Amino acid sequence: MSAIENLSSSFMKFPGIGTRQAKRFVYFLLAQDPRFLEQIIHEISELQTTIAQCSSCFRFYPRQNSGNICGICAGDHDSAVLLVVEKDTDFESVRRSGSYAGKYFILGGAIPVLEPNPDSRIRIRELMNRIKEGAKEGLSEVILALSANPEGDFTREYVAKTLTPLAKKLGIAVTALGRGLSTGSELEYSDSETLKYALKNRS
Ligand SMILES: [Zn+2]
Repeated sequence: MSAIENLSSSFMKFPGIGTRQAKRFVYFLLAQDPRFLEQIIHEISELQTTIAQCSSCFRFYPRQNSGNICGICAGDHDSAVLLVVEKDTDFESVRRSGSYAGKYFILGGAIPVLEPNPDSRIRIRELMNRIKEGAKEGLSEVILALSANPEGDFTREYVAKTLTPLAKKLGIAVTALGRGLSTGSELEYSDSETLKYALKNRS
């Protein structure tokens, strides 16, 4: 395979990128100033050296010290609520909206409808452990903040059903975002006002 084919097959692994788009990216790069390519190579290698994954919420964050816990998990955010989102970009949307002051958990994906092995798609075991740990620090509510589309609905039902026995035992409520999100919308594309409304109207 040529370098063009190699790189385009790597781009095809990106979410939502098909053969044609992948090829367009490669030809775009070929047409750029060599300094731009060097910059991209540098930025990608910097991801490895400067970004870490939090061992508590699983989000990616700029590494500040030798610890492996992010500033939000280690900081003074409200430990009584835990907001469960599908991915880092959803976390960023909620954070930007300024409408939530508690802790977070990144599920790591959504479950496709009819997936025979849902546990393999999301961090459900890690979430259970996080809830057990949280119970010791006064956790009283887990909010499922998932997208208002079929995968999001399926994931929400699966997570709620799986968490309920443990949550009941620990006296923790499991809630979901209110109907503020319009049907079909992905959390990461929701504006601040919508998120604020959906959080306020959770049930
Ligand atoms: Zn964290």
